[in-house]
Amino acid sequence: MGATHRIAVIPGDGIGTEVVPEGLRILEAAASAFDFQLDYEQFHYASADYYTKTGTMLPDGWFDQLNRFDSIFFGAVGWPDVVPDHISLWGSLLQFRRHFDQYVSLRPVKLLPGITSPLAGREPGDVDFYVVRENTEGEYSSIGGKIFEGTDRETVIQETVMTRTGVDRILKYAFDLAQSRPKKHLTSATKSNGISISMPYWDQRVEAMAQNFADVAVDKYHIDILTANFVLHPDWFDVVVASNLFGDILSDLGPACTGTIGVAPSGNINPERKFPSLFEPVHGSAPDIAGKGIANPIGQIWSASMMLEHLGETEAAAAVMTAVEDVLAVGGDTLTPDMGGTATTKTLGEAVRRQFETNT
Ligand code: ATP
Ligand code: MG
Repeated sequence: MGATHRIAVIPGDGIGTEVVPEGLRILEAAASAFDFQLDYEQFHYASADYYTKTGTMLPDGWFDQLNRFDSIFFGAVGWPDVVPDHISLWGSLLQFRRHFDQYVSLRPVKLLPGITSPLAGREPGDVDFYVVRENTEGEYSSIGGKIFEGTDRETVIQETVMTRTGVDRILKYAFDLAQSRPKKHLTSATKSNGISISMPYWDQRVEAMAQNFADVAVDKYHIDILTANFVLHPDWFDVVVASNLFGDILSDLGPACTGTIGVAPSGNINPERKFPSLFEPVHGSAPDIAGKGIANPIGQIWSASMMLEHLGETEAAAAVMTAVEDVLAVGGDTLTPDMGGTATTKTLGEAVRRQFETNT
């Protein structure tokens, strides 16, 4: 009998509650095919409903409760009619990120079969890389202030904070990831021609880290030309590592180059496993289609695959993606409307599960 993985399941709001069950179905199928146990529990906080009842997004004691789990499987949070986005986000996901030290934001950028890329002429295989974003410091510090407020000398300052520990640990993660992949190629996002203190420091730490990874090919691009190359030459990239702000931009641009937002997954990862990591689709609660049963479940299912990979169930993770790719390759009515088909969330989720069972 294989390992037992403890999973906290938080569906959240809107289509989160519709796609999470499809993710769970594939996780259960993976557990029985690959002989491991899933011990999961659902929590209904981090949602607008919970906020309406309690006036807060999370209960007292959430940290100890969730900290007992190996991972958090998350749907989506946000319902702007009921709770302002800054409250729902700050009150839930950003608390998890901070308290569970999820300093890696990981987003695969991979064009799947059957999906039309907005980049003309691109085939699956042309676009297959990862964006690794630093998730805790950098440009998003709260350090700064305002002086001469209300006068014509009004001035605001916000500092970028880069610590050696913070920079080195994200670079180490990205280099390890690059080393594990066939191309062994790492691209660093910089802007040391314009930002004269922090970005040269980032470059210097990249060079220092590269000394430990002789087999990884390293290059760097300034963020402006890098964004252009995401669109013009996505085939150049393998692992792209970036500071918090640059990573934020790249991790929206990347998935946008691979078709519908409904398929893109993400991980907020504490690589040392000292705290639980969180896996969720890139999309939000999508109030415009919530309740219709037509949300694309692939982003959630792919997030399940990333979670399995993080938990060490590498073969199961790969088998989930094979099933996804097989179903998408057939295409047609099996797909949800955002991919041009007529399927529902449930029928597509069910098709992936059946394919998984046929394959394994
Ligand atoms: P955020 O929650 O990050 O603020 P948002 O609320 O602006 O994002 P999303 O909820 O991600 O946006 O939705 C953006 C658009 O994409 C909407 O039109 C939504 O219907 C569509 N969309 C998002 N996720 C899916 C999905 N899984 N399937 C189909 N369409 C989706
Ligand atoms: Mg939203």
